[in-house]
Amino acid sequence: MAQKLQAPRGTYDVLPDDAARREHVEAAARQILGAAGYRRIETPTFEATELFARGVGASTDIVQKEMYTFEDGGGRSVTLRPEGTAPVARAYVEHGMQKLPQPVKLWYLSSFFRYERAQAGRYRQFWQVGAEAIGSADPAVDAEAILLLAELLESLGVRDVRLRLGSLGTPETRAAYRAELQAYLRAHEGELSEEVRGRIDLNPLRAFDADHPGTRSVMAGAPLLLDRLTGEDADHFAEVRALLDGADLAYEVDPTLVRGLDYYARTLFEFTSDALGAQSGVAGGGRYDGLVEQLGGPPTPGIGWAAGIERILLATGEERVPPPILDLYVAYAVADRPTRAIGFELTWEARRAGLSAQFELAGRSLKGQLKQAARAGARFVAILGEDGATLKDMETGEQEQLEPGRVIPVVLKKGKTLA
Ligand code: ATP
Ligand code: MG
Repeated sequence: MAQKLQAPRGTYDVLPDDAARREHVEAAARQILGAAGYRRIETPTFEATELFARGVGASTDIVQKEMYTFEDGGGRSVTLRPEGTAPVARAYVEHGMQKLPQPVKLWYLSSFFRYERAQAGRYRQFWQVGAEAIGSADPAVDAEAILLLAELLESLGVRDVRLRLGSLGTPETRAAYRAELQAYLRAHEGELSEEVRGRIDLNPLRAFDADHPGTRSVMAGAPLLLDRLTGEDADHFAEVRALLDGADLAYEVDPTLVRGLDYYARTLFEFTSDALGAQSGVAGGGRYDGLVEQLGGPPTPGIGWAAGIERILLATGEERVPPPILDLYVAYAVADRPTRAIGFELTWEARRAGLSAQFELAGRSLKGQLKQAARAGARFVAILGEDGATLKDMETGEQEQLEPGRVIPVVLKKGKTLA
């Protein structure tokens, strides 16, 4: 016997029950984001590697160790997309969307690829629903984006959600703060973990994320970026907060919030769920006012977020998705060719009439067919025999004898009175 093959480590198959739950997430996103003027966009699964090197940032975990990068047949370096913001910003520039009324509001639901340690809630191919609003620096765009994400998570029943909010200020403020933080870390180098010490030059902000006890106590006394914001940035953050307060959205200001992408500026946020284990991040996002320009477009502000579909599903629990409704199951009491031909045709006609219908395909006995109809959740079963058809109502058990041509009109009529 040939050896069985398995899906690659860190990947999984979306089986039909799971697919139904995902469709529900997608429908909620379409409804909630669509109502706020966001329109769907899908970018390619792979991009030029340079897009992520430039757009996500060379010092990030994603670019340093998580990308699936390879050379294609033409010798170009391409990368399976690890995130959605850089590709959407690339599309914004490529299609001249700055000429459209601003902000341009876009959403996506796609799969992404990161070479990570696979575990519950962390995969190498995973799905995100994301939203981007490009072309306005108005704090109302930030507040609206955050509120839409909160509404999406709530409508899906994500449990024990917490929102952390911070602000990074502009790149200039960040650069000055970075130098201050680096000096502080160097002054305490002996107490830091080796990993943090090795990153003082490249990414000192990550020190706030460390679990190492020595590092944590050093970080408790570290200078905070929030205290260094300029007047304009501080006003922007205050306005975002006022709008969220006005909408009664609970959040916690976290001056140590750090996110793994380099392009963020000003507003930054993360939604976690206490219903999840170690991988508690459900969604994250922020403002990226420098990104579009970095990708060759005009100076353009933007803000967006992405939510992990697997983590949403994990945090909503295992509520059962109702099985699909089947209006009509076409069975036969006589398995000869003409009867089967009538049944096959009847099934198609039922579908053309807008019913969901299935035809017996496994050569079961009549008893087996009725059992299968019940498993499939059929409301009605038409049993074709030598003298016409018997229509059985699976809910009441009632049966009636009729011409095969009458089956569809009767199902349509009865189905309507029941619905
Ligand atoms: P984490 O801290 O968990 O690594 P992240 O900061 O890398 O998350 P983002 O890049 O901001 O995550 O992506 C947004 C969301 O996408 C996360 O909050 C999470 O729900 C989901 N996500 C990120 N990486 C993965 C993964 N490897 N598998 C499943 N979901 C993921
Ligand atoms: Mg990550």
